[in-house]
Amino acid sequence: MLPDKKGYFNGFGGRFVPETLIYALDELEKEYAKYRRDKKFNEEFGYYLREYAGRPTALFFAKNLSRYLGINKIYIKREDLLHTGAHKINNTLGQVLLAVRMKKPRLIAETGAGQHGVATATVAAMFGLKCDIYMGSEDIERQKLNVFRMKLLGARVIPVKSGTRTLKDAMTEALRDWVTNVRTTHYCLGTVAGPHPYPMMVRDFQSIIGREAKRQVLQKEKRLPDYLVACVGGGSNAMGLFYPFFNEKSVKFIGVEAAGLGLSSGKHSASLVAGSPGVLHGCKSDLLEDKFGQIRNTHSIAAGLDYPGVGPEHAYYKKIKRATYVAVNDREALEGFKLLSEKEGIIPALEPAHAIFYLKELSGRINKNSIVILCLSGRGDKDTYAVAKELKL
Ligand SMILES: *Cc1c(COP(=O)(O)O)cnc(C)c1O
Repeated sequence: MLPDKKGYFNGFGGRFVPETLIYALDELEKEYAKYRRDKKFNEEFGYYLREYAGRPTALFFAKNLSRYLGINKIYIKREDLLHTGAHKINNTLGQVLLAVRMKKPRLIAETGAGQHGVATATVAAMFGLKCDIYMGSEDIERQKLNVFRMKLLGARVIPVKSGTRTLKDAMTEALRDWVTNVRTTHYCLGTVAGPHPYPMMVRDFQSIIGREAKRQVLQKEKRLPDYLVACVGGGSNAMGLFYPFFNEKSVKFIGVEAAGLGLSSGKHSASLVAGSPGVLHGCKSDLLEDKFGQIRNTHSIAAGLDYPGVGPEHAYYKKIKRATYVAVNDREALEGFKLLSEKEGIIPALEPAHAIFYLKELSGRINKNSIVILCLSGRGDKDTYAVAKELKL
């Protein structure tokens, strides 16, 4: 079972961090190993997922969209209906329960679109922990609503003005903070990236998405789906959906990255489709770097996808061809955004709007009887202003 003891998924992953963090990562690994099969921990986690976050989420048959695209059945896994508006809360609830057990009075996190910042600030408020969120000043500008939400929840939002002032820079600063404050602080990392044990731990917390979807589709269709489709930023909602189907070889996985202004423009965030292996933020995975090995500037209309790296388990899935990765650009994502809003009355976040658009491409190529599950990772409230501007509403 992967990752191995050192945190590798067949060459990807590992732990590339300063010496001071090794102790904290060892501690986290040990505590997580202790609790991941602990009955009381899992009961408490299940309780909060159900009573606080709103699980299980619906697996909705999108009849209109299916008919419009000529796909037999598209089911939408409604992570957008969760408390705080995205799948991020699955992970932050798991991590805060660990932080409390490790007696850490303070949480820190990085955030791009602000969804992970909000989800972290939310659990910090409920469990009475101090909370500092690192956010690029560029993202602070384009995601104002989420900045206000974090402040209302009692968190401090620390603007990061280095680099491209986006998610990558926020993550660098959060890691720096953790090095200085490891004794009192738990770093609540927001996706399946970073040093071991984060990719494994976040995957496990998010795999509730796929476990529920599997149960629900078997109940509704009496068979497994043919395709799972999800957007990939760091890769946590996609991995959460894919992982429980890993051994079901008939189920194909498609991860949709952000092609931004187009792959040839260089202004995109497609680390799996257009990147190469390297080390970023403590782990080895596919990433976007220039010929000198410097991390490239990325772009996506969706702040949550605007990251030059990706979780190592995705790089592994790509290498062994368990999953296929594709890229959808800004303009197409806007089309996906409109499509779901108009056909199903569901306004998606811009991140999964990339995956929605991809269904259009998929429809021409698949078997007539196909069943597709799309992960709707979040709702569009945070993006309405930006989209209105783009569409000149
Ligand atoms: C954060 C976010 C993403 C991207 O993160 P992953 O780790 O790739 O899931 C996608 N969709 C939404 C709604 C998000 O908030």
